[in-house]
Amino acid sequence: MSGHWTDVARSVGLLSADGVVSSTIFAEMSALARRTGAINLGQGFPDVDGPQHLKDVAVAAILSGENQYPPGPGTPELLHAVAAHQRRHYGLDVDPGTEVLVTAGATEALAATILALTGPGDEVLTLEPYYDSYAAAIALSGAAHRTIALHPTADGFRLDTADVAAAFTPRTRLVLVNTPHNPTGTVLTRAELTVIAEAAVAHDAIVVTDEVYEHLTYDGAEHVPMATLPGMASRTVTISSAGKTLSFTGWKVGWLHGPAELVTAIRTVKQFLTYVASGPFQPAVAAGLADEDGRTGQYVAALARSLQERRDLLSDALGAAGFKPVTPRGTYFVVADAAPLGYDDGVDLCRELPALAGVVGIPVTAFCTPGGPVADELRSFVRFTYVKETPTLEAAARGLARLGR
Ligand SMILES: *Cc1c(COP(=O)(O)O)cnc(C)c1O
Repeated sequence: MSGHWTDVARSVGLLSADGVVSSTIFAEMSALARRTGAINLGQGFPDVDGPQHLKDVAVAAILSGENQYPPGPGTPELLHAVAAHQRRHYGLDVDPGTEVLVTAGATEALAATILALTGPGDEVLTLEPYYDSYAAAIALSGAAHRTIALHPTADGFRLDTADVAAAFTPRTRLVLVNTPHNPTGTVLTRAELTVIAEAAVAHDAIVVTDEVYEHLTYDGAEHVPMATLPGMASRTVTISSAGKTLSFTGWKVGWLHGPAELVTAIRTVKQFLTYVASGPFQPAVAAGLADEDGRTGQYVAALARSLQERRDLLSDALGAAGFKPVTPRGTYFVVADAAPLGYDDGVDLCRELPALAGVVGIPVTAFCTPGGPVADELRSFVRFTYVKETPTLEAAARGLARLGR
């Protein structure tokens, strides 16, 4: 059976040479957690919902009859709330009428953007490791996927500026930058972003950013949107979502903004993917974004503070168990090297971890190009999430302590 799906499956390492489709390592690890009762620190979704007052808005929207197709670009309230959010936080001037689009989560925003703006003969650049939907969407578009490696250092995962220049070619159409970065927790510095921005300008490439963790940063790390760098707003599509910021990952309310011409192109594709989504959740997210001086703002600030504490708890436990964690400055995740424990293959370790420590993680190679140099460099690294309640993380820490003995 042929079709684009084979390109997608191959891009994420799910298709063997003889055409056998395997399940993702994410599915395998979640099944392993269910089967063994191990604590699942693999999948990154919160085990506590977002604020009740926003649930109330969604419930009221359903009860008051907001249950048909919302407007194609998104409800006017949400479009305005996104524009106001970008002005308030970053000083960006965004026209809600022509420069914003509401999507079915950041995932659809990414797919629609890549499908709209790239095709066969183009190259799309991303950091590596990368969020797995990137490779699949690039494969669907027919473009080639090239990457810039992030390397583990004492100061988190960092890119090498010489690699940036080398990765761009005359075919580079689009560069997709994720900061704060999943899986590594890196918050790119203004200097790193500037190097990418200058290369994008020199090659006349479009920049797409995935900023879904924009409010979840730690140790005072500053999230810098690419669109705020000099000259970049005119070539940048900025993508974010309510899922991570408000702890409502199941609502699937995302958005993007950028120059009207690019947004029109992306809307043309998005229209035939989902058309619209999440009708009654759009007013709830609009209320959340508009309420940053109130309860919602307090909620997000408290979430970031508590995630920083939970990051410390899990990182300390991993260190005590003999891993070498690489300190994340944002997101839901910490990546740790298992080599000091005597494991050179994260996949093998992840399959054994439920028995050894009662915990499930995800090998970082799941976020790398199969068989590539970054997968090789990060073979012994494992990603764990700390977006779980503190008692759950404490139980995981006790399990991990068994490894160190
Ligand atoms: C969770 C996540 C997404 C998906 O966001 P949705 O709004 O749930 O579609 C996109 N990018 C990254 C880096 C993520 O971690």
